[in-house]
Formats: sequence, C-alpha cells, structure tokens
Amino acid sequence: MPDAVEMITELPLATVLGPEFDTEEAQAWLAGWADQWMGLEPAAGRGWHSNGTDLIGGSLLWETVSDWLEIDIEIRRHPKGILRDSRPPDPVWTVTLVLMVGCWCQDNHNAHYIEERRWDVGSVEALTDRTRSAYTVAQGWLESSMDADYWRHRARLQPRPGSTIAEQ
Ligand SMILES: [Zn+2]
Repeated sequence: MPDAVEMITELPLATVLGPEFDTEEAQAWLAGWADQWMGLEPAAGRGWHSNGTDLIGGSLLWETVSDWLEIDIEIRRHPKGILRDSRPPDPVWTVTLVLMVGCWCQDNHNAHYIEERRWDVGSVEALTDRTRSAYTVAQGWLESSMDADYWRHRARLQPRPGSTIAEQ
C-alpha cells in the first residue's frame, strides 16, 4: 500500500474520480462512505490510495503471525467515451471488490484472489448504491469467516500447514 492515507479526502478526488466529485456534497458523501468502509471490522492495516489519475482504492488487512486476509475496494473512472450519450450509456466508473488471502502453495504466489465483485455504473447515484452494495457484500464475507484457512479451503487451495479446517 504505497502512499496510503487515512482519510479519502486527502486524495485529489475530483482529479481521480472526475468533476462530479468537485462539489462539497459529493466529497462529503464519499468521505462518509469511506469512514464506514474503514470501520468495517477492526483491521491490522487500512488506508486509501490512488494512482493519481483514474483510480482510488481502499484496503483492509487482517493478519496473524504467519497468515493474512485482505479486502480491497477500488473505484476506477473510465476515460470519457464518445458514446457517453448513447443508450445505454457507457459506464463512467467501475467498482471492484476483492477478497484475497496469503498463499501456502509450494510455489509461493504471494496472494490468491478468492472472491471478486464488479459493478459498472453510469451516475453518481448508481455509484452511491453500488458502493453500499459492496459494503454489504464485504460485511457478508467477514461474517462467513475472517479466517484465511476457511477461504483457502473453500477455493480448494493448498491449506496452511496445521490448518484445522476439516476436509469435506
Ligand atoms: Zn499459491
């Protein structure tokens, strides 16, 4: 998480997400949502980051001594297309939500993406709805389990040595 910040408003929101986020109202909404997101569950690591042009992302990391589980959310703005006024309109933003865990394969892949959801949206209103949906989905994941072993087992990945999640 290079250059991660605690408050989403520390990022140049209108530059990254577009002129729709140039208003106090839009920024206040996003800040409120971001606060809620970062409070999802007490995490060992958290923060917001940006590529400076078209993407902001938030990361929540839970870790034990030798294992970890992470949930990331990203909002990416698409370049303005010439078909913007066509029907149905081009998506303006894509919201992507992922759950990933550490790798215990013989070849260390570092991370495995277990779950992913993606929503294309064309208006700030839809973006508001979908980012709320993402929060609910992430909440559901954490209610299922915050144990990386559980998610590896579910995805039939190599278990961590000593994993107590029973084979089914
Ligand atoms: Zn692996």
